[in-house]
Amino acid sequence: MTSRTVLITGAGIGIGRATATAFGRAGYRVMVTDILEDEGRSVAEAICASGGTAEFRHLDVTSSAACDAAVRDIEHRFGGIDCIVNNAGIAHKVPLGELSDEKWDRTFDIDLKGMMRLVRAAAPGMKAARSGSIVCLSSIMGVAYGWDEHVHYSAAKSGVVGLVRGLAVELASSGIRVNGVAPGYIRTAQALSEEHSLGPAGLEAAASFIPMGRVGEPEDIADVIVFLASDAARYLTGQTITVDGGLLVGRY
Ligand code: NAP
Repeated sequence: MTSRTVLITGAGIGIGRATATAFGRAGYRVMVTDILEDEGRSVAEAICASGGTAEFRHLDVTSSAACDAAVRDIEHRFGGIDCIVNNAGIAHKVPLGELSDEKWDRTFDIDLKGMMRLVRAAAPGMKAARSGSIVCLSSIMGVAYGWDEHVHYSAAKSGVVGLVRGLAVELASSGIRVNGVAPGYIRTAQALSEEHSLGPAGLEAAASFIPMGRVGEPEDIADVIVFLASDAARYLTGQTITVDGGLLVGRY
């Protein structure tokens, strides 16, 4: 029986898709949201085809009105939201000299403010239920590394760590936990982009300096997110967990 509802942003591809699939397998009602309509719909259909419960909803996290409406609709139809996974993000390569206010703001609007928008919308319902779990995607570029020509991304992902800490303290007494995940190098469209990131060859080369000897798969992150959402993590809040195959602890 479906007992819990999770809303995941940017869930049409990559880590979001794997996370939606993992929550579906775990018995959650999965609200798959993304700006990518076809991809999002096929994720929801695949979960349903496997015996799970899911539906797709278009959601652009840069719209406060759309975030508010999505939360209200889910609460109205299903009685509440148990978990939010703030996964949507962009990582555009922009040298400092070309980093206009607009480019900086666009990244922050999606990668950081978008997370706050959904939490702000969902917090009253979670408080009333005295229960809820929120997971936000940071990055190794937010918790440890600097990333040249991506300073806006690094800054936003560092901001996610602060967002997680602040929200965790503010919401803890209401029974709501807030945690982050900082992925290392994960095989998704974002990391495979030649234009904005490592590209296929760069990603494979990265495996040689990752202690576990391979880049991560989206499922490696998804399973940790499901754990953080679960009662098995009931005393865990305010933490951003690095999931990187030992990369950060293994590079001297
Ligand atoms: P991805 O493959 O690029 O997927 C991100 C999804 O978010 C895409 O469907 C994207 O659509 C969507 N999105 C973009 N702007 C949006 C908006 N305004 N509203 C709603 N959705 C939007 O990324 P990923 O690699 O799976 O990464 C997922 C998260 O983990 C991101 O926050 C990322 O920064 C973080 N992360 C990834 C890695 C990695 O190695 N892959 C490492 C560290 C952290 P479009 O494709 O149209 O932009």
